[in-house]
Amino acid sequence: MKKVGFIGLGIMGSPMAVNLLKAGVDLLVDDHHADRVEAVVRAGAQAAKRSEIGRTCETVFTMLPDGPQVKEAVLGEGGLLDFLRPGSTVIDMSSINPKVTREIARKLEEQGIEMLDAPVSGGETGAVAGTLSFMVGGRPEVFEKCRSLLLTMGESAVLCGGPGAGGVVKLANQIMVAANIAGCSEAFMLAKMAGVDLEKAFEAVRGGLAGSRVLETKVPAMLAGDFTPGFRMELHSKDLRNALEYAHFCGAPVPLTAQFQEMMTNLCAQGCEKEDHSGMVKYYARLSGTDLAGGRAFEEERWNKKDII
Ligand code: NAD
Repeated sequence: MKKVGFIGLGIMGSPMAVNLLKAGVDLLVDDHHADRVEAVVRAGAQAAKRSEIGRTCETVFTMLPDGPQVKEAVLGEGGLLDFLRPGSTVIDMSSINPKVTREIARKLEEQGIEMLDAPVSGGETGAVAGTLSFMVGGRPEVFEKCRSLLLTMGESAVLCGGPGAGGVVKLANQIMVAANIAGCSEAFMLAKMAGVDLEKAFEAVRGGLAGSRVLETKVPAMLAGDFTPGFRMELHSKDLRNALEYAHFCGAPVPLTAQFQEMMTNLCAQGCEKEDHSGMVKYYARLSGTDLAGGRAFEEERWNKKDII
């Protein structure tokens, strides 16, 4: 069987690699952290240096934090480009700036190496369950060749256009998710300050138009005050920074993205960077002086004092 490489075994990469192994893929893996490599080796993978991955694998996945790490892994000294053979394919599943994707794709193309950008949505839960959604950019024939491999880790893979198109759609996805989390935070903080039972509010709205996967997965954690990641605030902040940069490059106005980016930058500066992005609710907690998991319900106090019209 043809060997496949996988670089980047973090919150997302590890379970995705394990799903490739479960599908019978002969997998060579690498990560900066030896303990993460060991965990996936225990599941059946082989630990390998980039040089070995490049020389022996026809397809190599990367699942790294951002553009600089992907560039380093592919184009850097001792990177994949030094070892991959013509006809092989790099599939970058990280969420990065599409400008960086195109720069990498051009360099690979010069050596006869294909590239797909295939960022994902669905989070850690989707990575574990193998139900991720892939948004893909690249040449249609390369996508067709790689589709079945992608679908061992996800339940949908949509080719959105040429190189970088998957990354553009992922940035759009991240804007929508941030808007939904901010909207839920603002709305539930209003309900809290008005003295409404938040569990009842959740039950009442989840079946209506405001129902969403963000509501289902993030609001219960907000109500419990549990911000274990999941998707770290610093990574979402990175996506919004890339979205702003790329939108300005395209001349696209993104005033809400700028606002969400400011909120997340503020929270990261205050020590929330390693928490789940649902910690966006803390921005409202700081503005209002209460929080969803505890604190005061101001309107109830005023109602009890009968000073409400
Ligand atoms: P993570 O930080 O948990 O994992 C990244 C891994 O890459 C780490 O294990 C790190 O050691 C390794 N790494 C970094 N630089 C490296 C290098 N140069 N060579 C080898 N290994 C290197 O991040 P994650 O949550 O798994 O996210 C990965 C990507 O997927 C990011 O772009 C993120 O925005 C995106 N993403 C994350 C989620 C999520 O819910 N966590 C969801 C969708 C997309």
